Formats: sequence, C-alpha cells, structure tokens
Amino acid sequence: MAECPLCGSDVQKEPGMVVGELFECPDCGIELEVIKLNPFKVSEAPQEEEDWGE
Ligand SMILES: [Zn+2]
Repeated sequence: MAECPLCGSDVQKEPGMVVGELFECPDCGIELEVIKLNPFKVSEAPQEEEDWGE
C-alpha cells in the first residue's frame, strides 16, 4: 500500500500493475505514476504541459 502524495489517502497495488504505469487516485483524481512495486511506491505523474518558460 502506498500513499497519494496529494491527498494522503491509501492507494492499493492492483494485480498487473507495472512500474511507470499511470493511474488515477480514487480519492482526489490526480494522476499517479507507479515508481516501485516492492515496496509499492507512487508519485504524482509528471504533467505533460508545455511549460518551457518561453
Ligand atoms: Zn489522492
């Protein structure tokens, strides 16, 4: 079990999850990325916005 970095709620590892997989926090809905499976670790997924600082 891991913790959502935003809302702190528990997120469960689901069967078939792989490192790098993106999924949504069931609680707050932000996109999370699987960092590690053992132990299970997630982080907020990088936003793919064009933020190049013009
Ligand atoms: Zn959350």
